[in-house]
Amino acid sequence: MTVAKVIVDVPAKQTDRPFDYLIPEHLEEMIQPGMRVIVPFGPRKVQGFVERLESESSFSSLRKISEPMDLVPVLNKELLDLAEWLSIHTLCYKISAFQAMLPPALKAKYQRKIKLLAAKEVVSEPFHFLFHERSEILWEDALQTVSLSSIQKEVKNGNLEVIYEVQSRANKKKVKHIYSRLDEHELKTALESLNKQANKQRTVIEYFLKHNQSIEQRLLLSELNTSSAVIKGLIEKGILAEQEVEMYRDPYKEREFEKTFPLKLTDEQTKVIQPIHASIHNKEHEVFLLYGVTGSGKTEVYLQSIDKVLKKGEEAIVLVPEIALTPQMVNRFKGRFGDKVAVLHSGLSVGEKYDEWRKIQRKEVQVVVGARSAIFAPFENLGIIIIDEEHEMTYKQEENPKYHAKDVSIKRGMTHNCPIILGSATPSLESFARAQKGVYTLLTLQKRMNNNPLPPVEIVDMREELREGNRSMFSRLLLEKLADRLVKKEQTVLFLNKRGHSSFVMCRDCGYVMKCPHCDISLTYHQYNNLMKCHYCGYEEPTAKICPECSSEHIRYFGTGTQKVEEELTKIMPEARVIRMDVDTTSRKGAHEKLLNQFQDGKADILLGTQMIAKGLDFPRITLVGVLSADTMLHLPDFRSSEKTFQLLTQVSGRAGRHELEGEVIFQTYTPEHYSIELSSQQDYDLFYSREMMIRKSHSYPPYYYITLITVSHEQLTKAVSVTEQITKVVRQKLLPNTVVLGPVASPISRIKNRYRYQCLIKYKQEPNLKTVLKSILDHYQGDISSNGLQISIDVNPFLLM
Ligand code: ADP
Ligand code: ZN
Ligand code: ZN
Repeated sequence: MTVAKVIVDVPAKQTDRPFDYLIPEHLEEMIQPGMRVIVPFGPRKVQGFVERLESESSFSSLRKISEPMDLVPVLNKELLDLAEWLSIHTLCYKISAFQAMLPPALKAKYQRKIKLLAAKEVVSEPFHFLFHERSEILWEDALQTVSLSSIQKEVKNGNLEVIYEVQSRANKKKVKHIYSRLDEHELKTALESLNKQANKQRTVIEYFLKHNQSIEQRLLLSELNTSSAVIKGLIEKGILAEQEVEMYRDPYKEREFEKTFPLKLTDEQTKVIQPIHASIHNKEHEVFLLYGVTGSGKTEVYLQSIDKVLKKGEEAIVLVPEIALTPQMVNRFKGRFGDKVAVLHSGLSVGEKYDEWRKIQRKEVQVVVGARSAIFAPFENLGIIIIDEEHEMTYKQEENPKYHAKDVSIKRGMTHNCPIILGSATPSLESFARAQKGVYTLLTLQKRMNNNPLPPVEIVDMREELREGNRSMFSRLLLEKLADRLVKKEQTVLFLNKRGHSSFVMCRDCGYVMKCPHCDISLTYHQYNNLMKCHYCGYEEPTAKICPECSSEHIRYFGTGTQKVEEELTKIMPEARVIRMDVDTTSRKGAHEKLLNQFQDGKADILLGTQMIAKGLDFPRITLVGVLSADTMLHLPDFRSSEKTFQLLTQVSGRAGRHELEGEVIFQTYTPEHYSIELSSQQDYDLFYSREMMIRKSHSYPPYYYITLITVSHEQLTKAVSVTEQITKVVRQKLLPNTVVLGPVASPISRIKNRYRYQCLIKYKQEPNLKTVLKSILDHYQGDISSNGLQISIDVNPFLLM
């Protein structure tokens, strides 16, 4: 007998282990590890993942697997092992780890279908009837006539594929294909029997004599310069037939990618690429930190490293921050590697993501460029993993499994014996410290490609402006430079750091600030629909006209949203053409790209936006970058706030003067003396690094210490407090004496969605027992978690401390 160890899709502590199921005889040959199956579980049927097969079980009466969901594994051996590793290191359930690795389409409601990939004649007899005049058939319908094992055989031969069609409005795209119903001999006969005048039909038949395969109708028409009426005639004669064929919804397909070729590397680039190439060549795992200012040629180094990997017949994963997955960035990879590239990011529909994932699984592509979750791309011969802008916080997932893509990449790199490149102009302190210690290999690109110096930055003290009577959000210097650019017809980027700087609504008489009734944060004012919104729970209400506290009518909107900046700007400089990019103007699909294209085409003088314009912009006419308030992020309750400020400001400054025209940058700030503002204005990463390291050391923060954050939340304040107290006590007792345990304290955001939040922060150098202790805590509170609405979130190496 064969027993399948199955992890069922019931995320709970009691079910976070494999259950034994008997494989029924008719499925013996079929079930493999990494496949999903339907199994009976209690009174119902649930989905599960086969983790491994064994020949015996310690249980006597086993239930049987009901049916397979996949005919080829969706997770390979490496990913199954990786899930085990993830569940240990991030303290998540196995099932969450499995699901994190799959495209959402495999979790959604779907229709299972069998799809014909090869010519109909190639598959075995019973399928001929099934696929008569269609190329897809519902799974259930197919099973009426053919056996599961015969389907699986054809799937293995590559003739059929099982697909999961998501049942949503976003239906897949189909195109009409034409094929010949006749074989060569019959076609010749048909040709001879044609009417002498039927020249057009003759051409078409001759075409199919030469190319006996199906072709998209549109292409056939244009190639033969013929009409659909001609084709229709031949279909009526029974010579040709048409079928609807699914097109991969490749969102980049319609675009032309200008082919690019490897550039001759500079001396600096040659020096950094040598050890990378050596590591690829020798199949040795090594982590490289590629530290180079923006425009120093890092991407070209990535491209040529990937090229080497592809020539060895291996594959590459490139991670870029979600926000940087702009067409510009994608073009660089598609331009070099063409249709060897799949792209995965959150802007794609569920179906599109699934298509891209299938290209990887079916080995149709060798490179994937994507956001965080692309780290799980099911490649089997990985030759390199590249993480661009490695300091970005989007690489850390905030929900379970709370993994960091960097850790996963290193784990996979060890398995595949391949190098990892972490690239950044402003590496995270953790990575730079590791490079200093020799854990990572530091590679440096010091010069910008165009040899332009980094743009000079001027700091404007906004307190001074106020003192001298300027109440506007624009300093006089910035306005002066803006006007100058308008005259010169050069472009400006204005950056508004919105994070932690929402436009709140306040009563001027009593100082009351409108707050979310469910969360401990102020509501954000959205002018375009005149609503106040909570950014945590989505609560919204019409903008208050009367103060709920004192009934005053003097309500004011504070803070500066992009919209407000735009208004003021158009008042001061009515002649300036402004494009605003923020969450509101880019929520529609493709809007982001459209706005950027307009700006690139010179349809505007000023691009005004939030974080989302900080990256990837590379336009030759940008010569001025203005940061409206450089210090807003400094005041967040987060030990990384200086680091994040430094990174962001450095990144933004890099947008100016990337080409021939020289650029300049202005930082407006209320705290000009702060070292992260001062040092980012000098683009002095090294000095910032040593200053910040001293502070981290004195406060026992990373990279000197590791941290783990436990957040407890409950609707009742007393419950949240008492559980956090107990946890803190246990942690103190069980961990080493030199480990620092802080808490219990209220979280910086002390209430979200009506739940009170308390936390306990653990700082440690080495703590071999940590995972065991944390796991036992989770186990201990399991009852409260499942029945009493208690939530305990454990984040090992958190990025957000809120
Ligand atoms: P980064 O990724 O560090 O920002 P890029 O790789 O984008 O830098 O390089 C900046 C610019 O320099 C790009 O326009 C790129 O095409 C160009 N470039 C890079 N390497 C070379 C090279 N070896 N020779 C000529 N131009 C190069
Ligand atoms: Zn009031
Ligand atoms: Zn809320």
